[in-house]
Amino acid sequence: MSAIPTKRLFWEDPYLKEFDAAALKVEGSRVVLDQTCFYPRGGGQTADLGQIQEARVVDVEKNEALDIVHILERDAPFKAGENVHGVVDWSRRYRIMRLHSAAHIVYYLMQQVYGEDCKPASSGLLDDQKERADYWFTDKLDREKLKQVEMEANRIIAEGRAIATWTDQDGESRFWKMEPFPAMACAGTHVRNSNEIGKIQVERGKKPGKGRERIEISLGE
Ligand SMILES: [Zn+2]
Repeated sequence: MSAIPTKRLFWEDPYLKEFDAAALKVEGSRVVLDQTCFYPRGGGQTADLGQIQEARVVDVEKNEALDIVHILERDAPFKAGENVHGVVDWSRRYRIMRLHSAAHIVYYLMQQVYGEDCKPASSGLLDDQKERADYWFTDKLDREKLKQVEMEANRIIAEGRAIATWTDQDGESRFWKMEPFPAMACAGTHVRNSNEIGKIQVERGKKPGKGRERIEISLGE
């Protein structure tokens, strides 16, 4: 086992769909590679799915040493020390990247449009279909304002704004930034230009509890 945690190729290039790697550790269906473009479940973002050699990847997680553990549908058809090829389910991952980028824009607009009425109550949860985040509301949810959030988000997205992501100097924390919004800590995968997101829908989800509302984002296709 190397002391350096798995190299995160999805940070260097979130558009990388395939990669070669060395298998460092293989325990049944659990596999650690020296590098990977499979995003591990975390920070509200679901794990990438795909394939390593001929085995399907059904989940991906981080262990305590911050290595990325790929969980295969069955025992690995290769051993530690061998070189392997990985392929990420790209259409699914790209939807996640678009949705995650949209989620940051909506997060800021919710507070801008509703003002003091609205405070974030949870960090978002996202898969390739929806992003869901809860907000505290002092008042009843004004549906007109939610339409305004959706319209404003779609207007900004269509402007084709550049989206930057980077690792800070400690080499651990990741950030997201798009003008005119402030930078936000986020380790997820994002698109590089807002126009890749396309048109989104912003809707009210199932009420999560008293004083709170769930806001759901989906991609318009
Ligand atoms: Zn993010």
